Amino acid sequence: MIQPMLNKLSEATDRWSVMPERIAIIGTGPRGISVIERLAGRLAESSTLRSLVVYAIDSVEVGCGRLWRTDQPDWLLMNTRCKNVTMFPNPPDGAAWRAGYGPTFMEWWRQIDVNYPGPSGLAPRGLYGKYLKFVLDVVELNLPEQMHIERVRDRVTDIDEHAGEYVLTFESGRDSLRVDRLVVCSGYPLSKAKSASQESTPSSRHLTCFDVLETFQSGLSLPADLSGQAIGLRGLGLSFYDVLSELTLGRGGRFVHGDDGDVRYLRSGREPRLIVAGSRSGFPLPMRGRDDRPAGLGFAPRFFTETRIADIRAEGPACFRTSYLPWLTAEVNFAYLEKTLAPDRFDSFRKQLDAGDASTATIMPLMSEVAHSFGVEGLLDLEAMAAPFRGMSFPTQDAFRRAVVSLVRQDVARSEAGEFTDPVKAALNVLRFIRPHIRKAVDLGGLTHTSHHEFITRIGPTIAFLSTGPSLTRARQLLALIESGLLELLGPGASFRAKDGAGFVASSDAVENYSADIDVLIDAYVPAPNVDVDDNPAIRSLADAGLLRSFMGTGGVQVTAKPFHPVTRDGEVKDRIHVLGIPTEAARWFLHVGVIEPGVWDEFIDDADAIATAAIEKLVPSNPGPDERGSEKSREGATRTPNKYLS
Ligand SMILES: Cc1cc2nc3c(=O)[nH]c(=O)nc-3n(C[C@H](O)[C@H](O)[C@H](O)COP(=O)(O)OP(=O)(O)OC[C@H]3O[C@@H](n4cnc5c(N)ncnc54)[C@H](O)[C@@H]3O)c2cc1C
Repeated sequence: MIQPMLNKLSEATDRWSVMPERIAIIGTGPRGISVIERLAGRLAESSTLRSLVVYAIDSVEVGCGRLWRTDQPDWLLMNTRCKNVTMFPNPPDGAAWRAGYGPTFMEWWRQIDVNYPGPSGLAPRGLYGKYLKFVLDVVELNLPEQMHIERVRDRVTDIDEHAGEYVLTFESGRDSLRVDRLVVCSGYPLSKAKSASQESTPSSRHLTCFDVLETFQSGLSLPADLSGQAIGLRGLGLSFYDVLSELTLGRGGRFVHGDDGDVRYLRSGREPRLIVAGSRSGFPLPMRGRDDRPAGLGFAPRFFTETRIADIRAEGPACFRTSYLPWLTAEVNFAYLEKTLAPDRFDSFRKQLDAGDASTATIMPLMSEVAHSFGVEGLLDLEAMAAPFRGMSFPTQDAFRRAVVSLVRQDVARSEAGEFTDPVKAALNVLRFIRPHIRKAVDLGGLTHTSHHEFITRIGPTIAFLSTGPSLTRARQLLALIESGLLELLGPGASFRAKDGAGFVASSDAVENYSADIDVLIDAYVPAPNVDVDDNPAIRSLADAGLLRSFMGTGGVQVTAKPFHPVTRDGEVKDRIHVLGIPTEAARWFLHVGVIEPGVWDEFIDDADAIATAAIEKLVPSNPGPDERGSEKSREGATRTPNKYLS
């Protein structure tokens, strides 16, 4: 009796060790590539009983994904300096490049391009796509023998959970795929709005953000027949600059430097007649300062520290505005004062501040009072900085134009001074450094329900607005386009109302006597992820089956802490699914990042590593515990505690 049972057991064990574990990575943008790199890196360090097949699936371009696809026009630029970008956690170690060890984006770019612009250069997005594909090639060429990668360029249209497996169906009709584990890193959502816009009559065309992402970032242009038309752009963020470039540079226009150093726009005649752009605040994103920060200089928070955040979080869900914002504001203003006061006076200021009684309630009044005694009136108010026209009204469009141009010029002057030197730019740069700290306070239940919603809808967007600015080049181009009369910015509270019959009317309640007739309206912003309405079929089928649910009604997919298993509608944790990046935005904060900071074991890589470690846990006889993860192999001088997170 016992022998047949033992035979059966040994057969099952053999089959278990022979059958490969199958993992589907849905989406091969930077997140997906990072997970694949980590799977290979972790497997290379382990001896496993089973092999692993990884299906790298992307509907647009396997290896880089749709945002970074390689055939897009060169004027679509990254917003991250090339020196701040890698996909390998360690530098080359003398042996072959492979998972774990390879060149940074900057090193790679320098090697392949005679026009490499230097460490602060902003690469065309398509070039970063080529680097991402190079990374996947390097990883695949040097895979550990028990791992195999299969590339699938197709759209996943359905996912069915069946008998312990996930069955994936594809748009092309190819055979369905059965896998043991899913990693969903599908990026920005898709929206049904596309079909609505397609149905619009040509005279009242409304191109939605879906169209912009799907067509414009897919290397295609916006419709070619926009010349002579009036275009409305809703949004003044990063996508606004993309669309603006497409409507000008993309149509043969040129920016030239005049003798006075100013930039002028030369029309090609193929651009629209008029571009009218607006947003709620009426103010374009502040620019990123010139890169004058000494190389290798780190940043250690003084007020908004990890310890303080951990202490507050240990008390249970908090209110961001009352518990955290004072410390964050103090951190920003401390940097502002450091650059405003002469070094010896700043030293005295710091000593006086340290001698005061600082608590959450008193830190900002105390800092203001001490700053006042050093002759500094009025500290930086982040919410006011993000809405400089709040409460203002303008008698004419000319008056508003003068006001906005004057503010943009001031911003350009600050940016030219440099993000290390100029007090305001140095202060706003702090917001970039402390993003990981903010996440520690906010992510996955750090705040009360009310505060989480306020953070996601107001405070978070304000911080992002002030700290994700485009390059100086884009600001100079913006001024040139206004100067040329091609671009008109609307005042605060811009609206684009559909006209009876055809077209739209653009105006701002804060600007009297101005409205513009618009032929085509473009939503120049990326849509916020929302699992409840996302029409991406992969997300939709998981959500409709109850396997995904929204976190606190925010639209972000509710996941556990690392390795990010979704929590089902019934509250069950799905430990063979991971959801990473953008789809979880709003449950976590500011996941719009597609790079690893060289020399730092940052959150981006740690997120991917956590998934890789969990995924191969069952394949490895004795798996290292979480504390040992990466300790030997992480980059020399890098710490596994994320201390920088730049994009
Ligand atoms: C215009 C723009 C510019 C940006 N610039 C920068 C920058 O300079 N630096 C930076 O750090 N971040 C930037 N970002 C932020 C961006 O979110 C990240 O860089 C990064 O692309 C996120 O990576 P991801 O892998 O999560 O998502 P994505 O890069 O969006 O990749 C997701 C992939 O999933 C695929 N996919 C989705 N659904 C399916 C399906 N059903 N079947 C098959 N495949 C599917 C998509 O085709 C896509 O390729 C930018 C974002 C935008 C919108």
